Amino acid sequence: MPRIGIIGGSGLYQIEGLEEIREVRVETPFGDPSDLLILGRLEGREVLFLPRHGRGHRILPAEVNNRANIWALKSLDTAWIISVSAVGSLKPGLKPQDLVIVDQFVDRTNQARPNTFFGGGIAAHITFAHPLCESVGQILYTAAREMGASIHWGGTYVNMEGPAFSTLAESQLYRSWGMDVVGMTQMNEARLAREAEICYATLAMVTDYDCWWEAETGQTVSVELVVENLRQSSALAKELIRRSIASFPWQPACACQEALAGAIITERGAWPQESITRLGPILKKYL
Ligand SMILES: [Zn+2]
Repeated sequence: MPRIGIIGGSGLYQIEGLEEIREVRVETPFGDPSDLLILGRLEGREVLFLPRHGRGHRILPAEVNNRANIWALKSLDTAWIISVSAVGSLKPGLKPQDLVIVDQFVDRTNQARPNTFFGGGIAAHITFAHPLCESVGQILYTAAREMGASIHWGGTYVNMEGPAFSTLAESQLYRSWGMDVVGMTQMNEARLAREAEICYATLAMVTDYDCWWEAETGQTVSVELVVENLRQSSALAKELIRRSIASFPWQPACACQEALAGAIITERGAWPQESITRLGPILKKYL
């Protein structure tokens, strides 16, 4: 039975209520995942949990080995990923403690993070016009609405490099571009999940208004307040995830699951064995 993956970001390092818990170590051709994967049962379904920054939050956004994380989840038969990410808001209407189902990205990293599983003799170009899975987003959105949570459908996430937060000029620039939220981790992860044909949705938790807010309103934001927002939002996100599990189909039926069909340009006969081995579970169904 395909499993549901949960990648927790800042503030979300475990999922309460998991039963029959087992820790799984996965070795990948791309190195080690952020941590051991936690396999357990939640609301009757098998789920895998991975803390993006490792237990104890040891890994910076640019240091997260997304290829290892996604490869590990794929190798354990993950068909869907709920990705939780703390973000800064770039719009007055997206308030701290609100949730946002992100639907677009703009990449403002320095592009140094490995952003594909391919290469090494096998070329593939996935379509990425709609980078997030609408079906999983809809499941999360519906569950949040049923809980009465303040959640927004759609929003563009500008993926900054970090680890320092934005300068005021950057924050204002993102606002002038019409961006909705700013974070440091999601785009690279989503791209790799699409290559791995995993349905992937970002559940963004607004912790603060980024630095433009203070300049425009004169209201100062204390670190304590941001930490408290993160704590509240994480608790809400966990409850939302638990409630959403029952709405996942038993078998995935979504275009994300066919992302590589037609995307691999290299003729099958020319695929180097070494690359086939490295891609492992990602390429399995095309062999
Ligand atoms: Zn999908």
